[in-house]
Formats: sequence, structure tokens, C-alpha cells
Amino acid sequence: MIHHLLSAADLDADEAVAILDTAGELARATGRSVKKLPTLRGRTVVNLFYEDSTRTRISFEAAAKRLSADVITFSAKGSSVSKGESLKDTALTLEAMGADAVIVRHPASGAAHRLAMSDWTKCVVVNAGDGTHEHPTQALLDAYTLRHHLNDGSGDLDGRRVVIVGDVLHSRVARSNVLLLKTLGADVTVVGPPTLLPVGVEHWPCAVSYDLDDVLVGADAVMMLRVQNERMNAAYFPNAREYSRRYGLDRRRADLLAADGIVLHPGPMNRGMEITAEVADGPRSVVIEQVTNGVHVRMAVLYRLLGALPELETEAG
Ligand code: ASP
Repeated sequence: MIHHLLSAADLDADEAVAILDTAGELARATGRSVKKLPTLRGRTVVNLFYEDSTRTRISFEAAAKRLSADVITFSAKGSSVSKGESLKDTALTLEAMGADAVIVRHPASGAAHRLAMSDWTKCVVVNAGDGTHEHPTQALLDAYTLRHHLNDGSGDLDGRRVVIVGDVLHSRVARSNVLLLKTLGADVTVVGPPTLLPVGVEHWPCAVSYDLDDVLVGADAVMMLRVQNERMNAAYFPNAREYSRRYGLDRRRADLLAADGIVLHPGPMNRGMEITAEVADGPRSVVIEQVTNGVHVRMAVLYRLLGALPELETEAG
């Protein structure tokens, strides 16, 4: 059993499947009229967000609340962070206030790891996105969504073909997905312009391609990545039109997928850039389902990380 969730690589196949199965059970349990479970009553979960977020922050908040935890949401804007307070001092403050778990999003790669490995806090740390590094709960919710649509009843993704497209260089979603999908047995290809693939990508546990049409043929799923303009300090492609022409997903390309192939996007989408509105809102798109699944997966993560604390077992017993 892991203590923190910092990277998708923290999860072996058994642990990952256990989280996905727990998410399924929680979805069923809270799908009825009662949406709330008492599991984390008396626990405090802090959302510590140093970077903008819509889905992830709200999703963690909803997940913790549905498990009856007390939730404190802290965004850097409007806090003492804008006066220059360090991650360390903020962590010490949260610790002094008795937080049990910290969900951290930070623009610096490695920030969640730094927090978890420090003696600043004894909290459970969940990485909600660190710079261009990792976003493990996004990978889990994507895997949950893929399993729901693609598994043949055996419950795994063995041999399923997943294509991840676009700005891999700046995407923490891509790295976490490649790691987790590999653990779950899927066959993954990343594709994008050479300038938007990271140095060393050939050592990632996936295939690499520059030709989108070629790799889409017969694939089970395609995951489109947002072009992360805010992280770009140079011109990585000639212009938006050229990017869309080579790497955008339109209806013609989506129809190259297997007959029941699906389209994922972690959001926020640049409609008209990496994906057309027709595909984003079309029958293959599972983008909205990803958001719903995100709440259940994050409930499962909190449940497994916090539910295992000894005090809680004593309380339950
Ligand atoms: N929402 C995801 C993230 O925070 C994807 C993105 O922003 O493009 O990494």
C-alpha cells in the first residue's frame, strides 16, 4: 500500500487496479439517492493550488466532501504566497492546523515530491499536477474511462491500442498516462511534431511517431493533449493552422479509429486547435465522462490513502 501518490510509477498493476475497482464501487455506492459516505469524517483535506485549475480542484473538493472530510481550499492567489511565502512555510502552517492530506498543484516539477519527502509535514501528499512532470490522478481517471469502454469483461487494458497526441513536451498528463497505461498492459504510441516531443522520449515505455493518420488506423482510443501556450517560450510550430492540419483531430481522422474507438481530452480544450468542436461534442467523445469519473477516482485515492490510517481503523473497529 502506498503512502503518497506522487507519480503514476508509484502504482504497480495490483495497486492501480485496486484503485480503479474501488472507484467503480464508490461510483455505484454514491450513484443512488445518497451521494455522501461517512468514511473520512473528522479528516481534513487541503487543496493547495499554486496554479490555475478548474476540473482538478473542483473534482478533489467534491471527492473529499462526498467522503465527509472537511475540505480547505487554498489558492496561491489571494494568500500569503503572493507575498513570497515559501512552500515550506505554507506546509508548516497546514501541518500546524492539523491537515491529514494535502492535494498539491504547483508550476515546479518535483514540488509534490519535495513536500512528501520533507519533514515539513506528515500529511498524505497527492500530486495534482507538478509543472510538466506528472498528473497521476488524471492518468487514473483516463484509465478508468478506457476500462469502462474498452475492456472485454476481463477488466484490464491488455493489448488495447491508445494513441496520445500533441504537446507531449509540456504535458504532465502524457507522462503519467504512458506510465500507467504501460503498467496496465496497453500498447501506447505518442505522436506529435518533433519539437513537441521531449528529449529522451525514445526511452519511454511506448512507441513514438510523427504521423498521426498512420497511427490512428484501427486504434482503440486517442487522447488529445492541449497545446500548452502558457509553458511555451519559443515557436514550436509555424502557426495554429499548420498545427491543426498535421496534428488536429477532425472527423475524418477520428473515423480512422476502430469502429467503437473513443476520443479523450483532459481539458481545457483548445477547440479548433488540437480538436474540432464536431469531434469534441461528437459520439466518440468521452470528455464529459472523464470529468464524472475523475470524482470517483479521486474518492478512491483518498479512501485508500487516508482510510488506511491506523486511527481510522481504530475508530471503525
Ligand atoms: N488539465 C490538465 C493539466 O492540468 C491538462 C492541461 O492543462 O492541458 O495538466
